[in-house]
Amino acid sequence: LPSEVKVKVVEAIEGIDGGPGILELSHRSASFDRVIDGAREVIRRLYRLPETHEVLFLQGGASLQFAMIALNLGTRGGFLTTGEWSRRALAEARKVAEDKADKPVELYSCEPLFTDVPTQLRPQDRDGQALDYIHLTSNNTIYGTQYKALPQRADGKESLPPFIVDASSDIFSREIDWSKVDLLYAGAQKNAGPSGVTIVIGRRELLR
Ligand SMILES: *Cc1c(COP(=O)(O)O)cnc(C)c1O
Repeated sequence: LPSEVKVKVVEAIEGIDGGPGILELSHRSASFDRVIDGAREVIRRLYRLPETHEVLFLQGGASLQFAMIALNLGTRGGFLTTGEWSRRALAEARKVAEDKADKPVELYSCEPLFTDVPTQLRPQDRDGQALDYIHLTSNNTIYGTQYKALPQRADGKESLPPFIVDASSDIFSREIDWSKVDLLYAGAQKNAGPSGVTIVIGRRELLR
């Protein structure tokens, strides 16, 4: 962390808004609301987030999102396996789908070498059934393969199911075209800040 950030942290522990320090605040206080709203605003500004998208701060790491996404959005997700973390996301979605008729579908895999990423996609599974969403890992943390652009529909027609991006190891490193991303999440500890929070940015319609 830059030293000016550490200085600010120490100041905030001493006291904020002329009152108690950040570690002593009620989570229901107006001072705490200002901290959270301020963090949300910084994220909106950094990412040029349009009003269509909302920022959430959640717990459980990026790994809990692997399950939450399947629990909330459906068990027929389409998965692009381009590294260890995307492999784990699929494994977790399969657990959620264990007693369900709709199962996750692996749309692409470059296991075990993990040296490339797909540029084109089929929007359904092999039986032609629609997918609940498409999940990809924008940067392969371990091997370093990174999408330069989101994959396109193979036939170029219409849109794809909701796009979900695990950006844990490249969040804030480049601009995002939010018209194409419906949910983006990252454990803060890899690329954004200290551990303990998961940043989830989602299209309001989808979050509802
Ligand atoms: C580290 C990592 C995760 C897991 O993050 P946790 O917050 O520890 O659960 C998920 N996805 C990617 C791409 C990662 O690099």
